[in-house]
Amino acid sequence: MIAQADLGLLDGFERALINGRLRMVYQPKVSLADGRLRRVEALVRWDDPELGAISPSRFVPMAEKHGLIDDLTQWGLRTTLRQWLNWCEDGLDTCLAFNISALSLDQLDFPDLVERMCRALEVPTDRLVLELTEGATQPLVKLMDTLTRFRIKGIGLAIDDFGVGYSTLMQLRQLPFTELKIDRFFIEDAPMSKDSTLIVKSIIDLAHGLGLTVTGEGIETEEQLKLLRELGCDVAQGYFVARPLEPEKLKDWIVEWRERWETLINEEPELLVRARRQM
Ligand code: C2E
Ligand code: MG
Ligand code: MG
Repeated sequence: MIAQADLGLLDGFERALINGRLRMVYQPKVSLADGRLRRVEALVRWDDPELGAISPSRFVPMAEKHGLIDDLTQWGLRTTLRQWLNWCEDGLDTCLAFNISALSLDQLDFPDLVERMCRALEVPTDRLVLELTEGATQPLVKLMDTLTRFRIKGIGLAIDDFGVGYSTLMQLRQLPFTELKIDRFFIEDAPMSKDSTLIVKSIIDLAHGLGLTVTGEGIETEEQLKLLRELGCDVAQGYFVARPLEPEKLKDWIVEWRERWETLINEEPELLVRARRQM
């Protein structure tokens, strides 16, 4: 039985999806070696005229439960790929990260669909990374075939929110991921907690050993950013770097961030030398 309030929300969401009232915002992810923009993560937004802003953490699981997730994924991906073209025309070539539900991976032809969408808009598949969170009911290892198909097509795969789900180290080794995102739960108290720092460091070293790029999620302070740099993390994402942005704000943010990065780095002379060596 679905509660009356949920029914209203579901109905509102379905109407927003059909009537083009959802939108995408884009959160930058930057290299911790040189501060450059590595890619942007597309995040869906729904502002209901009556209910206000509703978090995707509420409506994405609902879309999954009520058979609307494929429509949401296709709309979101098409919107994001089109946005990539707009940025390109504006002289801005970046890579994209897009969240997909593990449910969509049940269909073996899903990778073909994603590839067709990229081709139709002439977006090279190697510009796209799909971010996947493991659902409790769906061990990722079951989805090996579909994941491998994505990799064959040149599409990257990131394991999202790593450390708080059900993913085991064995699965990490078996599955064809290219990137690991450390959940913000660990990042949050890493500067204050030796244990969290140790966990973050171990995840980074392990991921590097397996050939994966590592992103720290939810970086909200300068301290966290600097610690992750010291620990050898590759990519930073979080409010300290940038909040999710409206697409037309990305260009200005790049200029602004470049200046902030220079200031941050100039405060750490020996790290600057190391960063320059890596450039
Ligand atoms: P996620 O993929 O792990 O995305 C990161 C979430 O953390 C985003 O929340 C982002 O706004 C938030 N965030 C980023 N930096 C910080 C920070 O420094 N501090 C804090 N406290 N939060 C930060 P958002 O946009 O509310 O999305 C929540 C989740 O909903 C996402 O988690 C993702 O799992 C899902 N989601 C969002 N957009 C989509 C989509 O288009 N499709 C699918 N299937 N899922 C989506
Ligand atoms: Mg994500
Ligand atoms: Mg995440």
